[in-house]
Amino acid sequence: MFLRLGDVEIWRILESIDPFLEPHKFFPGMGEDALEFLRREVPRQLCPRTGKVLIPIQGFLLKTGRHNILIDACVGNDKTCRVKLWNKRSDGRFMAGLQAVGVTPEDVDYVMCTHLHLDHVGWNTRLEDGRWVPTFPNAKYIFPKEDHAHYGADPDTFYQESILPVIAAGQAELVSADHCLGDAVSLIPTPGHTPGHMSVRVSSPEGSVIISGDAIHSPVQCLRPDWHFVYDLDGAQAEKSRRALLELVCETPVRLIGSHFPLPSIGYVTGNSAGFGWREA
Ligand SMILES: [Zn+2]
Repeated sequence: MFLRLGDVEIWRILESIDPFLEPHKFFPGMGEDALEFLRREVPRQLCPRTGKVLIPIQGFLLKTGRHNILIDACVGNDKTCRVKLWNKRSDGRFMAGLQAVGVTPEDVDYVMCTHLHLDHVGWNTRLEDGRWVPTFPNAKYIFPKEDHAHYGADPDTFYQESILPVIAAGQAELVSADHCLGDAVSLIPTPGHTPGHMSVRVSSPEGSVIISGDAIHSPVQCLRPDWHFVYDLDGAQAEKSRRALLELVCETPVRLIGSHFPLPSIGYVTGNSAGFGWREA
């Protein structure tokens, strides 16, 4: 198990860890500074072979006692993607990860996508006889309403493959950030990376954690919240959300799980007059 908070179990469902982009492309505008800064502050996030930024693609399975909730559905298999690494994958690791925690697709009650980007929605569907069908037949899928409005207006391939079949099956619920999933799971609006992006708070009387989604991509953004990730749709808004999220957990017992942070991807946000810091937990 990754973490237990009272009755709530949190399990990491890891799909992959691969080099993604060179630092100056990952954080455009930061030039060679990005490489030097990463090398100094988070060397483990740099691939020693390619020099690119390593990112895990992972979801989290919450067992709350009442529900099995999957937070983010990674890239998936057979999906069409311009990123070569993610195109037409055929890999059993994600589903084996679910199986290893004793959860079948039928057992999943909710799939919550922090945002509608292809590395967070892939396992929403799977290919069956040439048709995309929901992977989790009994689940309610929770999608940010504003992301649907944005990406659904002119559906790209990933949307047609991973979102529309869920909507067609009547399993989607489009929500705002005031939505809750039982007592244990609530949402925090962190727009910018996408218009409706939401981070996820998991609470219990024994403590709480926040799963960032893509509100932040690297521990270096604790030190430099102004660094924009290349695929932030609205960089200025993303920075505003990132700072608010860091402020929320700074110097508190609430741990932050950075969805794309190097494993173990969890730690505390520290802070002083100079700004924020990161302490892995
Ligand atoms: Zn992502």
